[in-house]
Amino acid sequence: MIVTNIHDLIGNTPIISFTNNEFEEIPLGSTVYAKLEFLNPGGSVKDRLGQHLIASGIEKGLINSDTTIIEPTAGNTGIGVALAALKYKLKTIFVVPEKFSQEKQDLMTALGAQIVHSPTEEGIKGAIAKAKELDNQIENSYLPLQFENDDNPDTYYKAMGPEITKDLNVEIDSFVAGVGSGGTFSGLGKYLQEKIPDIRLIGVEPVGSILNGGQSHGHEIEGIGVEFIPKFFQSLDIAGYETVSDQEGFDMTRKLASTYGLLVGSSSGAAMVAALREASKLPQGSKILTIFPDGGEKYLSKDIYKREEY
Ligand code: PMP
Repeated sequence: MIVTNIHDLIGNTPIISFTNNEFEEIPLGSTVYAKLEFLNPGGSVKDRLGQHLIASGIEKGLINSDTTIIEPTAGNTGIGVALAALKYKLKTIFVVPEKFSQEKQDLMTALGAQIVHSPTEEGIKGAIAKAKELDNQIENSYLPLQFENDDNPDTYYKAMGPEITKDLNVEIDSFVAGVGSGGTFSGLGKYLQEKIPDIRLIGVEPVGSILNGGQSHGHEIEGIGVEFIPKFFQSLDIAGYETVSDQEGFDMTRKLASTYGLLVGSSSGAAMVAALREASKLPQGSKILTIFPDGGEKYLSKDIYKREEY
């Protein structure tokens, strides 16, 4: 395959299937499918978002050739937006809570972005507040704000849904996916629910996130977990949430790497834990779809594959 630019390689990611041969938790005849989003050029599910946020901002007249894009991000959205911004030669500034992985910040910088830190203890809310402040100060800036912007779920509705229909020529019984901004879960969830009205939508969160009524606190699994219920969930029929501990998530992340060569991040490990729980609840022959949002290389400094205790 020959392409003229990297942007054309975003999307059309493959799906890997697992059965009882790989995981004994999967009943005989059932299948867990995982879409491998780390195979996007920027290494995550958020390349699609970056592309769609900027294209849509231009289409709506909110972005011109001198606009500075500002966004609060834990990292992958920044990488995706920075990548997309290069296509249009736009400046980017990302507000990142300090604790987040250094590799992600280095990658955003490599893609030409400027990083501004917000205090770790203020979480993503602190990053949003700081980004809004910068947006007010900087002339001709655009704050896509993935947490509030319907372009976020739209990305996955439009750019990922049809890929699933094309590749998975099966009725999916359950869609299980991590919730950070909630864009992937709600966008793809809406698409799938329209096609398969009785599909079960199961959100995945780490311990320390509030979806199952838990207390909000820090966690080691990166990219998922919320301090407030995403606004995109309002029109969705959600069957429930699976809460995964850091220990379970990282044990699975190590297993996926060391047994199956899947060098994924910890939110993929958590998604797999939840997908296996769901598979074990459903009758034999069920089909469960999950997403592996990013790769593990970005977390090597955190000993993602080495640390055994969390
Ligand atoms: N996993 C990782 C590694 C992520 O960076 C994100 C985005 N924060 C997610 C999962 C969750 O995706 P979403 O924001 O679409 O809920």
